[in-house]
Amino acid sequence: MRIFAIGRNYAEHIKELNNERPDEPVIFTKPDTALLRQNSPFYYPDFSKDIHHEVELVLRICREGKNIEEKFASKYFDSIGVGIDFTARDLQQKAKDKGLPWDIAKGFNGSAPLSDTFKPVSDFPDLTNINFKLVVNGSLKQSGNTSLMLFPFSYIIAYLSKFFTLKPGDLIFTGTPKGVGPVAVGDKLSAYIENEKLLEFEVK
Ligand code: MG
Repeated sequence: MRIFAIGRNYAEHIKELNNERPDEPVIFTKPDTALLRQNSPFYYPDFSKDIHHEVELVLRICREGKNIEEKFASKYFDSIGVGIDFTARDLQQKAKDKGLPWDIAKGFNGSAPLSDTFKPVSDFPDLTNINFKLVVNGSLKQSGNTSLMLFPFSYIIAYLSKFFTLKPGDLIFTGTPKGVGPVAVGDKLSAYIENEKLLEFEVK
């Protein structure tokens, strides 16, 4: 099982970090040790002083494929969950300044809390109109809608599968909307698809 992630997929989020709008999806990966399931607490690591939340919809791949055409991409994922792409923004900034890879800023232990429940794709009448959000300590911090993605699910699958053979169980974090920000010890994070809370955990 691999975890793929898309960076800079929502225009308003690109602006807030002063990043360039990409011509193609920005791809990075996280190891399986990044996953946090069962609403387990996230332990704030000592190597960063600026861990940011990025709430994202997550696709689960259901069949093997490479060089998938966009028009067939919908056959390759069967369910959608919600997760947090925790980012050590200070380490990421250092890496960006030097043109170095993001691995330690994005892939550290526990950097991918993920809902245990994945909603079947058939539950969604329109994949280009899905709302999702993140609430921290009772206040809304991020809300997004898939209509705002620069690269929709089908394009992401087609593009990723040019480079990587996708396999059942692989996960794709599809990018975060605007509103990213730091978390602190004691914060309670809840992530929703539409109005259903699917993920809830504490920062310790
Ligand atoms: Mg992200």
